[in-house]
Amino acid sequence: MLVTTTSTRTAPAADATPLATARTQLATAVEHLGYDDGLHQMLATPRREIHVAVPLRRDDGTTVLFHGFRVQHNVSRGPGKGGLRYHPSVDISEVRALAMWMTWKCGIVDLPFGGAKGGIDIDPRSFSADELERVTRRYTSELMSNIGPDTDIMAPDMGTDDRTMAWVMDTYSVNRGYTIPAVVTGKPLAVGGSLGRGTATSAGIVHVTAAALKEAEIPLNAVSVAIQGFGKVGGHAARIFAERGARVVAVSDQYGGVRDDAGLDLERLTAHVEATGSVVGFDGADPVGNEELLALDVDVLVPAAVEGVLTEVTAPTVRARWVVEGANGPTTTAGDRILAANGVTVVPDVLANAGGVVVSYFEWVQANQTYWWSEQEIAEKLARRMASAYADVSALARRDGISLRDAALVIGVRRTAEAHEIRGLYP
Ligand code: GLU
Repeated sequence: MLVTTTSTRTAPAADATPLATARTQLATAVEHLGYDDGLHQMLATPRREIHVAVPLRRDDGTTVLFHGFRVQHNVSRGPGKGGLRYHPSVDISEVRALAMWMTWKCGIVDLPFGGAKGGIDIDPRSFSADELERVTRRYTSELMSNIGPDTDIMAPDMGTDDRTMAWVMDTYSVNRGYTIPAVVTGKPLAVGGSLGRGTATSAGIVHVTAAALKEAEIPLNAVSVAIQGFGKVGGHAARIFAERGARVVAVSDQYGGVRDDAGLDLERLTAHVEATGSVVGFDGADPVGNEELLALDVDVLVPAAVEGVLTEVTAPTVRARWVVEGANGPTTTAGDRILAANGVTVVPDVLANAGGVVVSYFEWVQANQTYWWSEQEIAEKLARRMASAYADVSALARRDGISLRDAALVIGVRRTAEAHEIRGLYP
């Protein structure tokens, strides 16, 4: 029997969906750039979308059906690039938005990639490793003719990890008949992964935070930070912030959060999470709710979990002076306007979390040249690229009197449109 899964997250209002947010951001950039409607439509519309049925034979012998997607939003600057997400709320609309953000993100940090994203509407926590392997291999096999090291390169995203990438790489390679490490990034070191990839998104967040603070002549070691999310992005970001002297006073996961205004003991907290699967119940701090965390009196707030958390309801409560977006799309259009009106500086997702795809690019380059760089080389190249992207965005924001988000979008959109115009329209 085939069973269809259903989403567990409550749907956002129509004007607050990730796609609505992404389209409004694009429209603002297009207006600033003075592009005509034809070019706007082209930039708003994905180049290619693939929907696949992903049936899974469960360990108990029953069959369950998932829906898989891969959206290649734009490939004018190079192959599609972007993560693969496993979450029950995944649908074509969300994947479209995430793919569009990847296009601008790759443009902002000047990578020779377009933007893509994939997803399956599965809750990975409810399935065994064997089941996840079968789902991943079936999905990859359905996409064989649409992905590849020169066409579309996947990476981990929410609900997937380096092991998922190893399965994608293996399935693709076995079907092609030889090993092709550059078809995915974010894979284990043993099969051609890059040093520094696992912590790259988080390291990038800390680099741009430091750059933003520097403009106000405030050092990292003088600020307090609250982070929503304690997973692959938020967890490492907390550690790196603390290593660089910032006081991390609150973190949370989907079950709840913890706070200690003197600074959390991250080593003990990490041990607690490893033992229990959540920050909740940590005896070295006080509990704090996820919405309450957004409203804490801190200098820097890092939403590093899901999209759409800073809305017309929560944005007015934000007391941080800087919001650094670790997640993709954590702020809705209404939330963004309120933060701007309240004088909060938002370092946007497409810049703030670009460290992951930057080191993905380094991993792809290393796989293509079959020569690997040291961890220090990667760290230096990442720091340089993030600093230069931040400087470009900040200079444009100042020159044109626009927000960092609008400036970042203008740069990403302009670089994409330039590539398109120089190549010309075929036929
Ligand atoms: N999933 C990450 C993102 O949203 C990384 C994408 C990649 O490395 O291709 O940026």
